Amino acid sequence: MHEKCGVVGIALEDRDAARPLYYSLYALQHRGQESAGIVTHDGFQQHSHVEMGLVGDAFGPDDLESLNGPNGVGHVRYPTSGSVDACCAQPFSVSFKSGSLALAHNGNLVNADEIRDELADLGHAFTSDGDTEVIAHDLARNLLEADLVRAVKRTMSRIHGSYSLTIMHDDTVLGVRDPEGNRPLCIGELDDGYVLASESAAIDTLDGELVRDVKPGELVVLHDDGSGFDTYQLVEQDHTAHCFFEHVYFARPDSTIDETLVYDARRDLGRQLWEESGVESDVVLPVPDSGRAFASGYAEAAQDDGTDIEFAEGLMKNRYVGRTFIMPTQDERERAVRLKLNPIKSTIEGKTVTIIDDSIVRGTTSTQLVELLKDAGAEEVHVRIGAPAIVSPCYMGIDMATREELIAAGQDVDDVRDEIGADSLSYLSIDAVAETLGNARDDLCLGCVTGEYPYDIEDEATDRDVHRPVIGGDASVEADD
Ligand code: 5GP
Ligand code: MG
Repeated sequence: MHEKCGVVGIALEDRDAARPLYYSLYALQHRGQESAGIVTHDGFQQHSHVEMGLVGDAFGPDDLESLNGPNGVGHVRYPTSGSVDACCAQPFSVSFKSGSLALAHNGNLVNADEIRDELADLGHAFTSDGDTEVIAHDLARNLLEADLVRAVKRTMSRIHGSYSLTIMHDDTVLGVRDPEGNRPLCIGELDDGYVLASESAAIDTLDGELVRDVKPGELVVLHDDGSGFDTYQLVEQDHTAHCFFEHVYFARPDSTIDETLVYDARRDLGRQLWEESGVESDVVLPVPDSGRAFASGYAEAAQDDGTDIEFAEGLMKNRYVGRTFIMPTQDERERAVRLKLNPIKSTIEGKTVTIIDDSIVRGTTSTQLVELLKDAGAEEVHVRIGAPAIVSPCYMGIDMATREELIAAGQDVDDVRDEIGADSLSYLSIDAVAETLGNARDDLCLGCVTGEYPYDIEDEATDRDVHRPVIGGDASVEADD
């Protein structure tokens, strides 16, 4: 269950949180299109609406009207390639002896099964195979023995993997970022309250101010009355494992993550791409939309070097075609790329062309585009990619195909170039990614491009000394205070 999702949590002075939550989810729609949900609390009880589909379709005016209370959490869920699964839509909510919980999770645990087995032996009943429910039950259990902060700490000491969470315990909204900071999470200030969100673009949408990122291993508790927040550094880790792919593909370009504007990061990566493997051609075309910032940085650096490469929008995107990536069969994916992208012949005919995309996963997009551009009269088609070659699956929240499907797994660049039919192909180097993002290599999760993960994953190599929690044994909260 690999999920790239969007999460939000809001606490306001005395206005209902439903609408701001709804607008935030709209701003985070790119992080998940399968389902959308909001759970609010009015001081007495929870109100919940969770539905399959896009945010705009999942909530009608009546639904928002019924979501009472100034505090709440929300979630958009990323579509995985498997069956559409209503049971896993979030926020996940549960009521138990010491109150109600609602959880919204972005990321993926690597030891959820272990904890689920242990809790099942203790009598906990599970309604899904999702890891969010595991976190909910573990936290619920710890809350029977400890206050909120200690209970969260206890749960964090047990779960291993990637998690940015917004949680509501009764009417208290909190945010938790895993000790490696794998997925983003930030704090924003509104005129009459505070917000926690996967990306700062959600805060902008509410006319709020980005306060800062939630730190890796940090718990942020919003005051119920929207007057402020408290923070607790619950787990310290020597190294982070930020997902570089957030900067490359997932996040909105107008979001600031770990103090870098994603748009600037992509342009800088594009500039580096020119420095490393620039190729002279008549025209540079971005693959819309994800290749655009890379292409503009690339073209700008080329022009700085005195080449007269033209930057053009040579590919039109049909914005009503979504989700080509997750279509189930290769045939459908190919058709969808053709439906999605169409060349503007006059910018291409008789020219040498360089196309810039953020990444190659299965190779569907670039294979189709090279053919399309040659059919449209391009003399040469060069492909430049703003990320390193993806050679391994992602276990940390991204549905990135299996190893067999990855075009670069077990093939070198020349093989891939031949397979996609390009005149030349270059990826950006891993070192350039780390340098441009201002991180040491061992502060990034590079698992999908190195095959070595910052987590302990069955049958996979690791690139560090992983601190893996030992589950079972003495479960008393006192033990780890
Ligand atoms: P490919 O066509 O090589 O399988 O995938 C590469 C294209 O898919 C690129 O244009 C990239 O922007 C996009 N892409 C990369 N990762 C993901 C992902 O996780 N989800 C979706 N929907 N698209 C992706
Ligand atoms: Mg793309």
